[in-house]
Amino acid sequence: MRIIDLSHCLKPLFINDKSKLSDVDMRSVFCYLFKPDPSVKWHIAHLISISSHIGTHIESPYHWMKDGADIASIPLDSLIGPAVKIDLSYKRKGEMISAEDLKKASGNRLRSNDMVFLQTNHSKLWGTEEYWDESPYLSVDAAKWLVKNKVKVVGIDGPRLDCYRARGRERYIIHEVLHGNGVLVIENMTNLDKFRDRGTAFILPVKIHGIDAFPVRVIVIEED
Ligand SMILES: [Zn+2]
Repeated sequence: MRIIDLSHCLKPLFINDKSKLSDVDMRSVFCYLFKPDPSVKWHIAHLISISSHIGTHIESPYHWMKDGADIASIPLDSLIGPAVKIDLSYKRKGEMISAEDLKKASGNRLRSNDMVFLQTNHSKLWGTEEYWDESPYLSVDAAKWLVKNKVKVVGIDGPRLDCYRARGRERYIIHEVLHGNGVLVIENMTNLDKFRDRGTAFILPVKIHGIDAFPVRVIVIEED
């Protein structure tokens, strides 16, 4: 059995650039919360301020639909279950992933209710400015193909599933197709090269009412 962590490690920054979603503003609050007790050698707690879309995160339908389920309302059977990797690592920056590409790369391995993780290897650029630029993206047909195949979750090892260059309604059309059909989305995954093929995934965000998305530790367990 192999346990694979598909999540990025976040590095707290003490000087926060509010324009970026990749920063964690973290401070120690020990002295504010408790009265110092000289008999205690070490006792620490933190106060953090983060975007709901920081690092590896899951998006609920509420992110894109006013009446959609929020993070706390997602049933557990949507967050734990069979997951399959689709290897699209031959795709270059800014290249489209079509329904045909998904069909070819998935072979006959996709089953209904699968979670699908798209490997593009864009995650190798994590930590650079270039990461947030153009990345491989889904065509509308590809998103519809995933919906037709009844996948529960679509994750990617890049910053988005939409086309970075698109404008107007097209800019978030993949959000519209997936969230509109109850498919959950994970962005900024990593280590998909270590996930061979198929396993059981665990995606458990902290339950906060009324929140649209939340950072998550995505774990997959693969049998040997
Ligand atoms: Zn997001």
